[in-house]
Amino acid sequence: MTIKRVSVRTCLGCGQKREKAELVRIGVTDGKPVVDERRTLHGRGGYLCPRAQCAGSLLNKKGKLSRALRVSCSREAEEVVLHGLLRARQGEE
Ligand SMILES: [Zn+2]
Repeated sequence: MTIKRVSVRTCLGCGQKREKAELVRIGVTDGKPVVDERRTLHGRGGYLCPRAQCAGSLLNKKGKLSRALRVSCSREAEEVVLHGLLRARQGEE
């Protein structure tokens, strides 16, 4: 019997735990949050479910993303990445 190790992360939007592979990773480049689509960014990352709802709820929690990533970015930088995710997901749903 093999034990499958699953990395679990908490979504910053809804607080639910999911497998890392199911979540969208947000990393940091040049002190700003960016969607880490290829999961190549080093350092801290935040995770979100791939749902417009979770991006939207994180968008309403001011400063939560920058705290999770330990960056002191502007509110605008947070909004750019979350609005981008929101729009991408809304297009899919
Ligand atoms: Zn979520």
